[in-house]
Amino acid sequence: MHVPARVIRPQPITTWLASSPLPTKHGTFETHVFESEHEEHVALVFGDVNGMFDVPVRVHSECLTSEVFGSLKCDCKQQLDAALAEIVLRGAGVVLYMRQEGRGIGLANKIRAYQLQSMGADTVDANRMLGLPDDARKYDAVPDMLAHLGVLSVRLMTNNPAKVDGLRDLGVDVMGTLPVLVEPSPDAVGYLETKRVRMAHQLPSRSGPWSGSDKTQGAWSGSDKLKPTGSE
Ligand SMILES: [Zn+2]
Repeated sequence: MHVPARVIRPQPITTWLASSPLPTKHGTFETHVFESEHEEHVALVFGDVNGMFDVPVRVHSECLTSEVFGSLKCDCKQQLDAALAEIVLRGAGVVLYMRQEGRGIGLANKIRAYQLQSMGADTVDANRMLGLPDDARKYDAVPDMLAHLGVLSVRLMTNNPAKVDGLRDLGVDVMGTLPVLVEPSPDAVGYLETKRVRMAHQLPSRSGPWSGSDKTQGAWSGSDKLKPTGSE
C-alpha cells in the first residue's frame, strides 16, 4: 500500500473490504468499502481513475439527518447529489463518503447542538457551548483510499479551504478545487452564512451573488475532460 512520503505511520490503518457496481439515479458507480479505525468508509468511483491525475474528488462526511431524513438544516444531501451528478457529467471521479456524522462529533452531539441552535445559537457557538470543536473531522483514511484506487492527484470538490490544507498535510496531491454551489433551503441559509463568515467557506454571501476569488475556482457545471497532467 502506498504511504505518502510526508506522513510516517507505523502500520497501514485502512483496509479494503469489498466492492461491487452500484446503480444509482446518477449512474453506476463501482462501490468500494474500506475499514479504518472501526468505521466503514465508502468510495464511489465513476469511470477510469486508476493512474490518473487531477481526478475530481469529493470527500464527503456522512449526514444522516439530511441524507436520510431530508433535514433542511444543512445542504449536505444537495452537495452529495451535486457531486455525484458532476462526476458523471465529467466522465470520471470519486466520492469518498466518510462515516463521521456531525462534522465528526457524532449524532447525539449533533442533535444536542441542534437543540441549542433552536434556542438561537449558531453552529459554531453551539458546538463550543457543548465543549466540542468546531470541526472534529479526520481524513486519515483518505490517502490510503485514493492510493488503493490508483488516483495520483485530485481536484477537490469543496468550498472549504481548510479541507484542502488538511488533505495536503496528509500527503494528498490537491491540484485545485471545484466549488460545490447548491441552492440552499430557507432553513439552511443561516447555517451556510455561519460557515461562510466563521469557518471561511467560500460561499456566496447572503446579500450578494457568488463572490469567491479563488483562482482555482472552476466551472462547476463544466465537463472538461480529465487532464493527464495538472496545470494548477
Ligand atoms: Zn448536513
